[in-house]
Amino acid sequence: MFAKTFRGGVHPKGGKSLSRDAAIKEYLPEGELVFLMNQHIGAPAAPCVAVGDRVLVGQKLAEPGGFVSAAIISSVSGTVKAVAPHECQNGDFAMSVTVENDGLYEPCEGYGRERDYREMKPEEIIAAVKDAGIVGMGGAGFPTHVKLSVKPGTVIDHVICNGAECEPYITCDYRLMLERPEKAVLGMKILLSLFPGAKGVFGIENNKPLGIKAVVSACAGEADISVVPLKKKYPQGGERMLISAVTGRKINSKMLPADAGCVVVNFATLIAVADAVAFGKPLTKRVVTVTGDAVNTPSNIEVPIGTNVQELVKFAGGFKEDPRKIVFGGPMMGAAVYQLDLPVNKTTSCVLAYIHDEADIEPQDCIRCGKCLNTCPERLMPIKLKNAADVGDYETFEKLHGLECIGCGCCTYVCPAKRRLSQSITMAKNHVIAEKKKAAVKK
Ligand code: SF4
Ligand code: SF4
Repeated sequence: MFAKTFRGGVHPKGGKSLSRDAAIKEYLPEGELVFLMNQHIGAPAAPCVAVGDRVLVGQKLAEPGGFVSAAIISSVSGTVKAVAPHECQNGDFAMSVTVENDGLYEPCEGYGRERDYREMKPEEIIAAVKDAGIVGMGGAGFPTHVKLSVKPGTVIDHVICNGAECEPYITCDYRLMLERPEKAVLGMKILLSLFPGAKGVFGIENNKPLGIKAVVSACAGEADISVVPLKKKYPQGGERMLISAVTGRKINSKMLPADAGCVVVNFATLIAVADAVAFGKPLTKRVVTVTGDAVNTPSNIEVPIGTNVQELVKFAGGFKEDPRKIVFGGPMMGAAVYQLDLPVNKTTSCVLAYIHDEADIEPQDCIRCGKCLNTCPERLMPIKLKNAADVGDYETFEKLHGLECIGCGCCTYVCPAKRRLSQSITMAKNHVIAEKKKAAVKK
């Protein structure tokens, strides 16, 4: 089948061979687990437990703090030890709940109660997704129940599963494709029941032929569900790129996928939907790829959310030698961290540790080669945006459509002068958005 794709993008080194053949292993931690309240886009969750409370697996530790927010669920049984700010991966502090794990993993009442989604009303399905605390697990962290609550009158004709996993090194979704494709198809059927007449499409990059084969086989007999092979290219998994490749429709920063008739969910998220709706299991664990040339045994590990990353790395055999750089997420869009005493969040897809950091090169002057322009999937002018961003000229930045930047990092990747283009552009974009929000509050 002809593989679909989008304009622009890059072909970064894969790095996936380190962990792609490592079957998912389960790790159950023993010590304290930390549940951050800001694991999603939107308002932080509001703790609903107090120090000294006994909590069980599947019990809510925090309620959504607003419409765009998500519940936080305990992944262990034990005693609440603290409700206090804790350090996040970006160095900021956020409210958190710390649970002293008793190692019993005792479930709360109703945990694991099976249901037939075909007998549930759409609002019951969306409520189950909300109660389960499900958010986009590919990295974005957008609350899934909000994504599913489309405006009345909006016609959704495509539910697209993002199976691109285009970031180098990350293989957690690939392993799920091989090991749990039926559950993802069940998740797709549940979502399709919310949007009568819609088609379900799994978009999977064609560098994963075994993943495609497994999902095609799991879809057999499902007339409304198909697999669309996508060309291996970064950032193929970006929401705008995926919608464009699958439907030919375009969206921009002022639009939602629903404005183009689409709902887009990540592969692991679809499995979380099936677990929550059909099997009564809220989002309490996820698969994390632990990889990079510094890691002794690159692995895909399923862990309770809140597990300390140091423990996770130890379970993967520890480091061969001190890594020069550690990134949460992939090398293109991930965030570098300076320490590992941090919890696994709902969006922690990968812990990547390098001995050799190829990006650690001093930036030089621009040689006007134009490569950044040609590669930008949003057809922006990265060097001009960076120049405006660096002098704080936000008016020019906006005129040059800087808000359309998706932060993919392609411009930085191709720049022969190693200029930190996407980093400057993302900072300027965040500044402009924050100023707009402040101005809206004042009105
Ligand atoms: S300007 Fe933004 S969207 Fe364009 S390549 Fe750079 S990071 Fe990606
Ligand atoms: S890719 Fe780098 S060197 Fe080339 S035009 Fe863009 S900023 Fe300048």
